[in-house]
Amino acid sequence: MEYEAVIGLEIHIQLATKTKLFCNCRNEYGAEPNTNVCPVCLGLPGALPVLNREAVKLALMAAMALDAKIHRKSFFYRKNYFYPDLPKGYQITQYVGSIATDAKLTFEIDGVERTVRIERMNVEEEAAKSFHAPDGTVLLDFNRSGIPLLEIVTMPDMRSPAEARRFLEILKRTIRYIGISACDMEKGELRVDSNVSVRPKGTEELGVKVELKNLNSFKAVEDGLKFEIQRQIKILESGGRVVQETRLWDEHKKETRTMRVKEEAHDYRYFPEPDLLPLLIDDELIESARKGMVELPEARRKRFITQYKLNPPLADVMVHERTFADYFEELAGLVTDKSLAANWLAVEVMKVLNEQGISIEEFPLRPKQIAELLKFVETKKITHNIAKKVFQKMLDGEGSAKEIIEREGLITMSDESELAKLVDEAISANPEIVEKYRKGKVGVIGVLVGYIMRKTRGRANAALVRKMLEEKLKA
Ligand SMILES: [Zn+2]
Repeated sequence: MEYEAVIGLEIHIQLATKTKLFCNCRNEYGAEPNTNVCPVCLGLPGALPVLNREAVKLALMAAMALDAKIHRKSFFYRKNYFYPDLPKGYQITQYVGSIATDAKLTFEIDGVERTVRIERMNVEEEAAKSFHAPDGTVLLDFNRSGIPLLEIVTMPDMRSPAEARRFLEILKRTIRYIGISACDMEKGELRVDSNVSVRPKGTEELGVKVELKNLNSFKAVEDGLKFEIQRQIKILESGGRVVQETRLWDEHKKETRTMRVKEEAHDYRYFPEPDLLPLLIDDELIESARKGMVELPEARRKRFITQYKLNPPLADVMVHERTFADYFEELAGLVTDKSLAANWLAVEVMKVLNEQGISIEEFPLRPKQIAELLKFVETKKITHNIAKKVFQKMLDGEGSAKEIIEREGLITMSDESELAKLVDEAISANPEIVEKYRKGKVGVIGVLVGYIMRKTRGRANAALVRKMLEEKLKA
C-alpha cells in the first residue's frame, strides 16, 4: 500500500519591536541576563500589562502579507501552566478570537504552485529563557520574558517534508521582506513545531497525528519529518497503531523519541485575561500597517521572470533577500543582458558573500561598478574568465574595471591576422596533436586552443581561435 503524509506546522516568530509586549522593557538580543526586566515581565503580583501598539501593527503587517482575514476585535487569554520560565504561572496569548484567521501562503516547489492555508495568527508573549548548567542548576534569563510573539498555525496542507521546508523558507522570506522579524533561528526568533500523520494514499480520513518538537533548523524540520513518516508507515505496515503523542527530534541520533503521550498532555484551563480590554483595531492602525507593505517575494519572483526574462531558479536566487533583489534591480537597470547580471550575482558575488559571511549591504562593490565590468563582457571586449580575474582585482582595491582592463591590456584579441600567427605557432609546436586530430581524434583540438589561451594569458577569443584552427587543420 502507498501512504501519504499529512503535515501541519506551528510557527512562532519574535516581533522586532523596540519594547516588550506588555511593558516598556527593551526587546533586545544578547543583553546582560536579567537587565531588561520590570515587575510586569517578572510577573510580580499586582503588576498590570499595557499592550504595545507597535507589536499589533507588526502582526497586522504579517496578516496582510499572508492574505489573512483581520479581526477588528480580538481577545487575550491566560494559558495556565507551571514551568520555571513562566513566572506568572500563565502566558498571555490569544485563543478563540485571534487577531487574524484564514490566511494563506502560495509558493512554488519543483515548478508546481502550492497553497498552504493558515488557520490562525495570534499575538502572544514569550516566556523567559532557561539554561541548564553542567552541575544541574537551572539559570533563568527574564530578558526574553514578555517579548512579543506571532504564532502562525497552518492547516494540515503539506504532503511532504520538502514541501514543509519550502513553505518555511518562503514564509521566512516574506516575514523578512516586510521587516517585522529577522527570523534568525539560532537566536530563537523563529521556531517551528510540526504535526504529522500518515494515511493510505487516496483516502480522506486523517491518521493519528504526532506532534514533533525540537526542530531547530529547516533541515531538522525536513529530516525529522522524513524519519517520523517512515516510523509511522512501518508501524501501520506491521499491523500496529500509531500513538498520539509529542516526540522530540534528536539531531545527533537522527531519530524521534517520545516526550509525552496524550494522557500527560496539559490542560491549559484557558480563560479571558481580566487585566486587558479586547484588542480593537482602528483604521489608523490598519493604515500604518499598510504603509509598511512592500512587493512580496513571490510576486517579485514572478515579475523578475517576465520583466527580466530570468529562468525560474535564477529569479528565485535574486529574490531570496529583499536587499539582494534591490541590488539586482539596480544592476539590471544598468546593463543590457539581465541574465548575465543575475548569473554574475548568483555565482561570483554570492561566492564572496558566503566566503566572507557578509550580506549584500556589506559587499564593497556597488551595482554601478559591477555594471562597468559586465559591459565589457556583453560587448565581448573581455572573456568571462578575464572578467572573473578583473572582478577579484576590483575586490582587492586595484581600481575600477575599466582601469584594470586598460592598465593590464586585457581586451580580448579578436584580430584575425594577429590570431593567425598564433594558430600557425600552435600547429607547428604540437605536431603529435595535429597528427592525432588528422587521424580523427578531433577532441584534441582543445589542447591547441589551450596553448593559444596560455600564450595570450586568456585574452584570445576562444571561439574564434577554435574556428580558425579547424579551418587550418582541414586545409
Ligand atoms: Zn518588563
